[in-house]
Amino acid sequence: MSTDCIFCKIVRGELSSYKVYEDDAVVAFLDINPISPGHTLVVPKRHVENILDADAETIARVFQAVQKVAKILIEKLGAKGVNVLHNAGREANQEIMHFHVHVIPRYSRDDLKFVDWWRSNIKKLDLAEIHRRITS
Ligand code: AMP
Ligand code: ZN
Repeated sequence: MSTDCIFCKIVRGELSSYKVYEDDAVVAFLDINPISPGHTLVVPKRHVENILDADAETIARVFQAVQKVAKILIEKLGAKGVNVLHNAGREANQEIMHFHVHVIPRYSRDDLKFVDWWRSNIKKLDLAEIHRRITS
């Protein structure tokens, strides 16, 4: 728990939110600045920063809820699919430092360009060298 964390306040009910799903470990609520109708954030109730410092149980519970939320959005809103996004770290555009996974419903011909960096900057890189660094 973190006293001045916005998402901890939502978990404690001190800040209002449009809840989509809740269980003993997780809450999911509508993103206040949605990219598409039904854009939802799935958040563990226990404060951890992101996937890098979360324990395996928390990660499992969050992603089980991600699947449930995706199915709810598809059934109730007529979405045809979802993008699932997690930003870990400020360099990766994480702004709220409480673990959350974005579930972004996608609709037929929604013409959404998901994120401007995705496939926007493909480089010729030495894959063998990068693989050597990762596996050495
Ligand atoms: P990120 O860049 O992954 O940290 O995304 C943080 C997300 O939290 C953004 O999409 C914001 O629109 C969303 N957000 C910030 N404050 C609230 C809030 N009070 N209720 C719902 N969503 C929020
Ligand atoms: Zn928090």
